[in-house]
Amino acid sequence: MPRGDGTGPPGGGGGGGRGGGRGRMGGPYAAGPGGQCVCPSCGRRAAHTAGRPCNQTTCPNCGTRMTRG
Ligand SMILES: [Zn+2]
Repeated sequence: MPRGDGTGPPGGGGGGGRGGGRGRMGGPYAAGPGGQCVCPSCGRRAAHTAGRPCNQTTCPNCGTRMTRG
C-alpha cells in the first residue's frame, strides 16, 4: 500500500493511561470486613466478627488469641 489511508493503525496516538479505578486499600480495615480468623496454634478457623479484631478473639478450641486468616 502506497499510503495508508485510514486503514492502518493510528500512528502515534493512544497509549491509554487509564490508571484509576483501584479499590480502596490500606486503612484499619485492610483485609476487609467479614473475613476469617485463624488460630495460629491449632489452625482452627472461625468467622471474623465485624468490628472485633481477631486478636481479641480467642480460639474456641485452645484459647489462643486468633489472627487474621
Ligand atoms: Zn486454637
